Amino acid sequence: MSSPFPYTSFDLTHTLEETIPSWNGSCGFHQVTKLDYTPKENEISFRVQQLKMHAGIGTHLDAPAHCNLGTLSIEQLSLNHLIAPCVMIDLSVAAHERYTASVEEVQTFEKAHGMIDPGSFVIIRTGWERFWKEPERYHNNYLFPAVSAEVASLLLERNVVGLGIDTLSPDRPGEGFPVHATLLGANKYIVENIANSALLPPKGSITFALPIKTHRGTEAPMRLVALIKK
Ligand SMILES: [Zn+2]
Repeated sequence: MSSPFPYTSFDLTHTLEETIPSWNGSCGFHQVTKLDYTPKENEISFRVQQLKMHAGIGTHLDAPAHCNLGTLSIEQLSLNHLIAPCVMIDLSVAAHERYTASVEEVQTFEKAHGMIDPGSFVIIRTGWERFWKEPERYHNNYLFPAVSAEVASLLLERNVVGLGIDTLSPDRPGEGFPVHATLLGANKYIVENIANSALLPPKGSITFALPIKTHRGTEAPMRLVALIKK
């Protein structure tokens, strides 16, 4: 019997484990077993774990408060923004370690697929995900495909809810972090280290960007999933 659920679901999240790439090179993720099915008479046994990690680990969300005091923190983000129609712009053919996505490329996408609608979550796919299992290659001494300041400004004009990318960041260090400044400064959110974005159509999916709900959180690990109507 086929499922009555009228959507196909996609997991756009990398699995958290100790060996994954991270911003500063030390992943910081530890899953510690505190109790290991220790049997007691007449009781079921449990494995109890403790998690330790950097907030900006794996597939994670940057809230505006990440770089702007007094702006929205993780728990203040609206579900109306975290659940959004998704636009996936595939620039993986052109992307390389010093590549910066340009306004012209976004405009070419819009000519082919129509304007980016207000309220969209935009994923820039660079294909860099292919190095995820090689942490040093993925990190690459902070050289990875990024996004230009002008694209961030264009996305603000389009009034998107947020920007996602399949690299460590839409900004390379040493370039002033203009994408973070522009988008987070306008109360938008950023999702980094996205997985499986190749599975998405250019338009027509809905993304659920759901970070762990931390008080005054500036970044948080998350589950990012997409639904596409069957
Ligand atoms: Zn970031």
